[in-house]
Amino acid sequence: MSELRKDPVVDRWVIMSEERAVRPSDFSTHAIKTSKTACPFCSGNEHYTPSEVFADRPDQSAANKPGWKLRVVPNKFPALATTPHADVRHHHFFSSHNGYGRHEVIVETPVHGVGPSDLSVSDHECILKAYRHRLLDMQRDPRLAYALLFKNHGALAGATVDHTHSQMIATPIVPFAVEEELRSARDYHADKQECVYCRLLKEETSDGTRLIGENDAFVAIQAFASRFPCETWILPKRHTSHFELHPENEMSLLAGLMKETFQRLHRALDDPPFNTVIHSAPLRDRSHDTCYHWHIEILPKLTQVAGYEWGSGVFINPLLPEQAAQSLRQVTLS
Ligand SMILES: [Zn+2]
Ligand SMILES: [Zn+2]
Ligand SMILES: [Zn+2]
Repeated sequence: MSELRKDPVVDRWVIMSEERAVRPSDFSTHAIKTSKTACPFCSGNEHYTPSEVFADRPDQSAANKPGWKLRVVPNKFPALATTPHADVRHHHFFSSHNGYGRHEVIVETPVHGVGPSDLSVSDHECILKAYRHRLLDMQRDPRLAYALLFKNHGALAGATVDHTHSQMIATPIVPFAVEEELRSARDYHADKQECVYCRLLKEETSDGTRLIGENDAFVAIQAFASRFPCETWILPKRHTSHFELHPENEMSLLAGLMKETFQRLHRALDDPPFNTVIHSAPLRDRSHDTCYHWHIEILPKLTQVAGYEWGSGVFINPLLPEQAAQSLRQVTLS
């Protein structure tokens, strides 16, 4: 049974997920499955996963059989349960919520052993279209407030299956990190009558010292106040609050810049572990349309988040983003 609990002091929700805790491998530091035969995400092993909810099958092959380019399946060990009701539990002081939600895995390729820098631009486009499809599907469930798409690459970044994949966790609440961005973007807009991200794009493209890639529709930069070495943000030039509402015809340009950025990180840092998240406005919420601007954050895991960071929320980053940008720009792309 899962449960969502809100900290009584700050607006921070925590998922209590007993189902996941019973897996002993969750507590192992050697959880990566390297044996190809045991991999649940390889083509031919479809029976190891729950039934697919979406797939890209160019040859119209049957569901849950080989022939797919990308598959989306419910997570076998979900952080949240698909219980029929999403109810808030009332207590005179504490707030909690039953653990309703959706937890899906996007298997990005049938091929084992390739990473995001090896995937083709067309593979990345297929992944982005699957993300869009899943978000549009989540929008139809009024019990859900937010869906976060994320990727864990490498054991140190939390990947428990080696086969490249991303995940989506949809919740009846808006996560703390997103609420914080929404609040700040709203305050900035109220004060300056402009979107803070649009302004950031203007500053970064005219200055150029933190720029690592750009095309007609997207920009990749090293974040000015990077929490981690090589913290990379990808932003659309077109102001759009929701990823799923971004014009689909620009996804090929995003795919190209994603591939390029993953290659730069892979080559400059020797295949670093990293997390990728898509920050987008909450599902169906149109109140942030003018002030919020969706974006992607790529967070390499090259330093330890330790006592000071946990205790203070202040990160110590040993590498200047301007220096990181210079090294990343120098990478030769194939
Ligand atoms: Zn595999
Ligand atoms: Zn904007
Ligand atoms: Zn963000």
